[in-house]
Amino acid sequence: MKKLFRVSFTLLLLTPAMFFAQDSDPVVDAIVKEANENSQLKPLAHELMDVVGPRLVGTPQMKTAGEWAVAKYESWGIPAEMENYGEWRGWERGITHIDMLEPRVQTLRGTQLAWNPGTSDKGITANLITFPKFKDSLDFVKWLPEVKGKFVLIEKQEPTGRPDYNWEEFATEESFAKMKEERQKLSDDFTANIRTTGYNSRTIIEALENAGAAGIVDSNWSRGFGVNKIFSARTKKIPTVDLELEDYTMLYRLVESGNNPKIKIVATSKELGAVPTFNTIAQIKGTEKPDEYVILSAHFDSWDGGTGATDNGTGTLVMMEAMRILKKVYPNPKRTILVGHWGSEEQGLNGSRAYVEDHPEVVKGVQAVFNQDNGTGRVVRMSGGGFLQSYDYLSNWLSAVPEDITQHIETSFPGTPARGGSDYASFQAAGAPAFSLSSLNWSYWDYTWHTNRDTYDKIIFDDVQNNAILTAVLAYMASEDPERASAEKIKMPINKRTGEQREWPTPRSPEREGMMKQE
Ligand SMILES: [Zn+2]
Repeated sequence: MKKLFRVSFTLLLLTPAMFFAQDSDPVVDAIVKEANENSQLKPLAHELMDVVGPRLVGTPQMKTAGEWAVAKYESWGIPAEMENYGEWRGWERGITHIDMLEPRVQTLRGTQLAWNPGTSDKGITANLITFPKFKDSLDFVKWLPEVKGKFVLIEKQEPTGRPDYNWEEFATEESFAKMKEERQKLSDDFTANIRTTGYNSRTIIEALENAGAAGIVDSNWSRGFGVNKIFSARTKKIPTVDLELEDYTMLYRLVESGNNPKIKIVATSKELGAVPTFNTIAQIKGTEKPDEYVILSAHFDSWDGGTGATDNGTGTLVMMEAMRILKKVYPNPKRTILVGHWGSEEQGLNGSRAYVEDHPEVVKGVQAVFNQDNGTGRVVRMSGGGFLQSYDYLSNWLSAVPEDITQHIETSFPGTPARGGSDYASFQAAGAPAFSLSSLNWSYWDYTWHTNRDTYDKIIFDDVQNNAILTAVLAYMASEDPERASAEKIKMPINKRTGEQREWPTPRSPEREGMMKQE
């Protein structure tokens, strides 16, 4: 299906009429000119990533980000507001400073994980402990008191900090195979050892806490040089930090060799009680059909190991820049153009699910939703999302986009609806034609997605600019289309495993009291 369409689309572009139509649209030309000659992407990226910083739900930075976006839209003459939909456990990151004091002094690279207890300004100084090999659960119970007053190294030891692509390039085949075997064995042995205790990798944390451990030292390697995934902690009484692989494995070796390393952790986070969660919404009112909506969509929140530059700073930049350009060159759209910067996508599409639940009148009037949320790369894939007639209107809208942008895009029709992944799924579940603008990955999964390396320097501005033009032109075309986009659904395919027909996903309610309940 993919390939077929690509061929037909290419043919479509080659017809003289299409060229004529493309060249002659002054709005499209003006969009391209404004994007190229007056790009605001770099100052926006600097303000959002460097000045505001990461945007974890429940943190003061998330609120600052909303206020920043509202002010930005208003400076462009676009009405905007922060729309509250619930609450979250408020938490503020403080200083994290981790130093090895014995057997020698070295500052370590790591960070406190979110939503867990901090330390005093003086920090906690303690020795470390790794898991011995347990014979059975009784053996674990006997060992457990030894963690009292110590930091526990909770993750397995990685045999190499080099990514596989580096091994593939330089290692002999034999030594690459040997490393992978060793890595697998270390991982299997570690998992089996935890299982022997009668706990799993989650529940064992509580046992360690209750036994008086001073803190948890984790390391969630992301299979690249110097890159770790940074999520939230599971401890309730003691701090958890994540150390980069290099430092984590050094400590591990020092413990195992009997050198008894001592480290000091300072992590001055604060609990802030319940704080409001919100979406940031801006709109350019439609002149002819104000109750029909073209929605630009990108989640605003992020994890906080880096500054959320590619997840989803870049999607945010695309939508903001597209809105700015549209307001300037297409200020009186036929349909309302609305942008949704959703909150708390990372914890389960909460902001967009809340918006869909709270605004049935908008969902009913959706002409199209365009969502971008997988990194900084230029858009290379679009799917019809399971909307039977999507080929007709999406390919028509795409035909107005300059060919230097569409030449990278593979389309598939009619596609199937998403079951999650990003906020377009919330709209698809409600039956609204919603589409993902899917990016070239630029090492997204290993290097930037939810990592300590998701920062400004990873942004590829040419690709983000490409996406802003694409989004602005699609929004313009969807707004101007004389026809309402069909939301007719495909007949869902048969599940090969069960033999039953799959069902269209159904809307789900958001978490409106995030992390507020005591478990
Ligand atoms: Zn994301």
